[in-house]
Amino acid sequence: MMNLSVAEAFSAYENARARLPSCRPSRAPARNIRSLAEISDAFDVFLLDAFGVLNIGDEAIPGTPERVRDLQAAGKRVLVVSNAASVPRDTLLAKYRRLGYEFDATDVLTSRMATSANLGDAPEITWGVMGLPGVPMDDFGPIQWHLLQDDPDAYDRAGGFLLIGSGDWSDHRQNLLEASLNKWPRQVRVANPDIVAPREDGFSVEPGYFAHRIAQVTTTEPRFFGKPFMNIYDLVFAHLGPVDRSRVVMVGDSLHTDILGAKSAGIASVLIAGYGFLAGHDAGAAIAQSGIVPDFIAERP
Ligand SMILES: [Mg+2]
Repeated sequence: MMNLSVAEAFSAYENARARLPSCRPSRAPARNIRSLAEISDAFDVFLLDAFGVLNIGDEAIPGTPERVRDLQAAGKRVLVVSNAASVPRDTLLAKYRRLGYEFDATDVLTSRMATSANLGDAPEITWGVMGLPGVPMDDFGPIQWHLLQDDPDAYDRAGGFLLIGSGDWSDHRQNLLEASLNKWPRQVRVANPDIVAPREDGFSVEPGYFAHRIAQVTTTEPRFFGKPFMNIYDLVFAHLGPVDRSRVVMVGDSLHTDILGAKSAGIASVLIAGYGFLAGHDAGAAIAQSGIVPDFIAERP
């Protein structure tokens, strides 16, 4: 699988800006804070990204389980808002519990759920699915689907495409998908708009990467579900019920998903600079270059 450097990952997001929500200008520069403890009084609801905020891979970010417990003990609502697409919510919840987090099951909201919530408008479609063999699909409801692998016919038989996970995706499969779409344009839905995910040895490419490539070389405009797009915030606000949005803050490590999404949804945001996407890099330069300005910058949650 291909890996990108942080500069390449950043460029990939910048090159995709035309397909991302536009960014509201900021009235003020970002304010540096030590941690979320410093702004606890200013907000009632904390929306936490997972990778880069709760965890890196299978390890909790040190101090974050305690921070989440403190916020919960102070009466704050703490939700997880993640572009996690390859597993159902229960699997994620069990993982967070192993890492030391206690969340109510309904307080975990994912791009997978945003995708599923919008599938009802195309009940007749047989979906060709980008995902690993054995990918659980039951929580998508009674849909028709088959996996896309190396058989060209599987692409031509699909009535639409669902991009869930790219763990074993290849250039060959991408070429089959693009060729099939160029023969017969069909809809493409992206259950994880992330272009990259930070790994130990660089950035892995995620379904969003391949979706933007489709947009460049076919006539298909993929539909994205998850941050930075509003559909996942629609789920968040439906779940929260009536709430003062000036008291809601999104916390994440990615300018182009977490922070851009928060600005698009009209809520405040905290960029985590010391973990995940920007770890070891100059957050100020990334903010200046992208023009995506969070309200706060914190080294750690
Ligand atoms: Mg993240």
